[in-house]
Amino acid sequence: MPHDRRLAHRDLILGIVRRSDRHPTADDVFMEARSNVPSISLATVYRNLRRLAALGELRERMFGGVSRFDAHLEEHGHFVCTECGAIVDIPVDGADVVRRLGQRAQAWEVAHVDVEVKGRCPDCRKAAAPSRQARRGSR
Ligand SMILES: [Zn+2]
Ligand SMILES: [Zn+2]
Repeated sequence: MPHDRRLAHRDLILGIVRRSDRHPTADDVFMEARSNVPSISLATVYRNLRRLAALGELRERMFGGVSRFDAHLEEHGHFVCTECGAIVDIPVDGADVVRRLGQRAQAWEVAHVDVEVKGRCPDCRKAAAPSRQARRGSR
């Protein structure tokens, strides 16, 4: 494959992840990439995602055993909805988290702080509200 086409694929894939606020999976990126370049393969998408992660342009991380890609490179944590799977960035100051953990944490050389808050997102809470009574009754 010509060099410039390879770079075009990489730019396309990076752009898709950057425009997404959903922390897309490789499959999500593939679906979107295919609408731009119908001949692109899932293998090409995977290879480029891994390469972009190795270059530090993207972060790859697991959510519930599924690998997803994040173009938000500054330190941050995530709200993860256990019902609809929504993943929302939240600001996290890792150094502050470590400070608040007390003395035992000070003995550690901390490489990375990973904050993941799980629960029900506002939309799912709203959707569940009217049926809460009925559901409680059926259990
Ligand atoms: Zn939700
Ligand atoms: Zn994120």
